[in-house]
Amino acid sequence: MKNIVIFGAPGSGKGTQSDLLIEKYGLGHISTGDVLRNEIKNGTELGKTAQSYIEKGALIPDELMISILANVYDLFGKDHAGVIFDGFPRTIPQAEALKKMLDERGHKVAAMIELDVPEEELMTRLIKRGKESGRADDNEETIKKRLVVYHSQTMPLVEWYKKEGLHHHIDGLGTLDRIFGDIQKVIDNL
Ligand code: AMP
Repeated sequence: MKNIVIFGAPGSGKGTQSDLLIEKYGLGHISTGDVLRNEIKNGTELGKTAQSYIEKGALIPDELMISILANVYDLFGKDHAGVIFDGFPRTIPQAEALKKMLDERGHKVAAMIELDVPEEELMTRLIKRGKESGRADDNEETIKKRLVVYHSQTMPLVEWYKKEGLHHHIDGLGTLDRIFGDIQKVIDNL
């Protein structure tokens, strides 16, 4: 079982590389952003709460995110090939909760893969994506806030995963094939 945390700033290519990983390795996929957008679409209580945070470019409170994590993970059953965590964890309490939830099931994170992309490139990609996807949080003002949140709340996870011995750095600037090739090298060595 290869549970993978795909990590990086908004616009770093986590979703795109996840799609390639799913196809090549038959992994499951948990994108917490997709889970929340689905809740918003379905007008659930969780969706209503999430919407106000997402619109501001802020993170949904940890307790709420952690409370849905196990339910989403258990949908894949007990003996899956592995799950990609995309957009989770985003804070240290979330990383600790993920570790505990997996421990309780006799599972673990096999690798954390950091896609490293320079800030100017992230802005360009996200503004372009906003025009195509129509995502409400892909406008310039909210993107700037999301990047600030990323630096202050999410980046400390790099050190956290280094201490766990799970961190792998990938240069996220380049062709899809080169980046995916670098990720495959990591996964094939696990
Ligand atoms: P994403 O699609 O991963 O960029 O997530 C879009 C938005 O959903 C984020 O800007 C947050 O507001 C919210 N979100 C997604 N995942 C998380 C998480 N793990 N913790 C807190 N908020 C999250």
